Amino acid sequence: MRIKAAIVPKMGDDIIVEEVELAEPGEREVRIKIMTCTICHSDIHALNGEHGAYDGPGIAGHEIAGIVDKIGAGVTYVKPGDRVLCTEIRQGCGHCKPCLLGQEWFCENIPAMSFRVPSPYTRLNGEAITQTCSGASGFAEYTNAHENMLCKLDDDIPFEIGSALACGFMSGFGAVLNRCKIKAGESFAVVGCGGVGLSAIMGARLAGAIPIIAVDVMDVKLEAAKKFGATHTINPKTQDVMEELKKITGVFAGGTGEGDAYGADHCVVAVAGKPIKRLAFDLTAKWGQTVIVGHELWENEYLHDINGMELLFGKRITGSVMGAIELRRDIPVYMDYYRRGYVDIDALLTNRFTLDNIKEALEDSTRGALKNVVIIGGTK
Ligand SMILES: [Zn+2]
Ligand SMILES: [Zn+2]
Repeated sequence: MRIKAAIVPKMGDDIIVEEVELAEPGEREVRIKIMTCTICHSDIHALNGEHGAYDGPGIAGHEIAGIVDKIGAGVTYVKPGDRVLCTEIRQGCGHCKPCLLGQEWFCENIPAMSFRVPSPYTRLNGEAITQTCSGASGFAEYTNAHENMLCKLDDDIPFEIGSALACGFMSGFGAVLNRCKIKAGESFAVVGCGGVGLSAIMGARLAGAIPIIAVDVMDVKLEAAKKFGATHTINPKTQDVMEELKKITGVFAGGTGEGDAYGADHCVVAVAGKPIKRLAFDLTAKWGQTVIVGHELWENEYLHDINGMELLFGKRITGSVMGAIELRRDIPVYMDYYRRGYVDIDALLTNRFTLDNIKEALEDSTRGALKNVVIIGGTK
């Protein structure tokens, strides 16, 4: 099928919109008419070629919401006309050992998360297009996806909210609910207050964390953090983060905030880079847990300087990808939180663009817009 898509002719090139050919959906695949795709910083990294070893034409966009247009052989979960979100996380088969252990991410019976080369997209000059971010691509009028990447979207949930749920929101919010497992009254800090960090703050507030401390170098993001539930903010450019955080957590714990017995019970790192991971680990109380969410290239994320002795009293460091969610268990809950006003996902959405204006949308995101929406088929 001939459709319009936004591609980069080579990684690092400017994005262009052109007609491409999309193959028919294969076995257990669904063709989705894309309504909205929100922009994630991973898309920008991928299109810049920062995800690694491929070149040639590439397509991105992985926060996808739309309508099922056609189903391939063997599809049972959806039918044409169903509203869905499409994400990089896969619903497991439910039968294999990892699934039975509640580890559906490691399901043995579904395709692993991956880029696809060749993808079902081809340029009209015959060049194969790589899917750079996901097994589906949202910067296009249509995409094919394995049915296990889909979760049905309730009729009252706008497509753009479905898109935001499909990665950005879940990555922060899910990290807090599924990894931190906060008990009411525990302290929480997040380093990095972009869309993921702010979603983590929403999760911490819902879980009853207090205080909720937001750390970022941009004051505008710290202001946003307060709106989403941060009780305190720290800007490392003008403040000593360690000192401030210990004071805040200490006073909340009924102490002086001096000495090193304090720190956040939970600390989520929502930005990439090794020095920031070390800082977050230091901000974490000696009994607490650091959860890594933001990341960049493998070689830039080694944590050689954590001493095993630091872990002896139970301090933990772990991570979370895509909120460690189970797709069809957690998304319906998040839709209900949204519907009832427990979380304000609308406030994460910044500016709206069309597919033809995607270059502008990506540039605006690079400048720091929280979460931009590309409206492709419509919002309702
Ligand atoms: Zn993403
Ligand atoms: Zn399985």
